[in-house]
Amino acid sequence: MLKPKIYRPLQALSIVILMQLAINCTSRIPEYLTSEAKEIRSSYFHSSENIDGLMLSGTINETPLFRFQGDEAGPTALIIGGTHGNEPAGFEAAHRLIKQFSDSPLKTGEIFIIPEANKIADQKNNRRIKAPRGVDIEMGNLNRCYPGNSHGLPMEKMAFEITTLIKTHDIDVVIDLHESPVFHLEYIEANSQYHGLGQTLIYTPNEEASWIALMLVDEMNEAIPPGLEQFSLAAGPVQHSAAWSAGEFFGIPGFTTETCKKLPLETRIDYQLKMVGIILREAGISP
Ligand SMILES: [Zn+2]
Repeated sequence: MLKPKIYRPLQALSIVILMQLAINCTSRIPEYLTSEAKEIRSSYFHSSENIDGLMLSGTINETPLFRFQGDEAGPTALIIGGTHGNEPAGFEAAHRLIKQFSDSPLKTGEIFIIPEANKIADQKNNRRIKAPRGVDIEMGNLNRCYPGNSHGLPMEKMAFEITTLIKTHDIDVVIDLHESPVFHLEYIEANSQYHGLGQTLIYTPNEEASWIALMLVDEMNEAIPPGLEQFSLAAGPVQHSAAWSAGEFFGIPGFTTETCKKLPLETRIDYQLKMVGIILREAGISP
């Protein structure tokens, strides 16, 4: 009898499903990344001589740390992308910065980049990763976990490793790339209690950061017609964020760059790159 034949279509289907699962598990490239970022990721992520090490090494949250050293010594910046996985302009910009600094070496200073800081959230287009049942959900939100905890949950450990990096390498400026669903000026105009943070630069209330912030907002707005797309400043990053931690524990300038998700993605990426360029220049790091 040839009875087993009837199982073959099902077996074939199972094999197809298993193969798709295997492809999804091994590629781990977020599907919604732009083709440019996908290309950068495949060219630099696994072979780059500029990978300095892995954050959360040996865990499912493991993610590369890139390092670019200039010809001349100077200040050191840390740029963080992918803190929130549903704010793609930030990690798209971080990928493009990796390509930029790989192709044209820095003249002065040094730059560390963590392009996918909350990698699992970035892959799933989620703001944060899940926290265990009964634990505050914000413990899966990297930007509420600073200065971190070496024995804590994964994002507390990531914050701890970033804090250690700032300390070990004597970082001079921290830039954390973010997005917001609502324009900041939209709600100010509507006289609402709620202020969206789209198109803002949030800065630590220290002198150096304030100076850079003023320069930045003027320069950004020179090229933007009056209206909602103009940038505003917001002093005082939220507690336990990367920028807050930079000011609070190290007394250095910390910035949260916020583009508005109502704008086209490429426009937002351009704004992110321009803000990073201005901050680096004003901090004394020349590309
Ligand atoms: Zn964010």
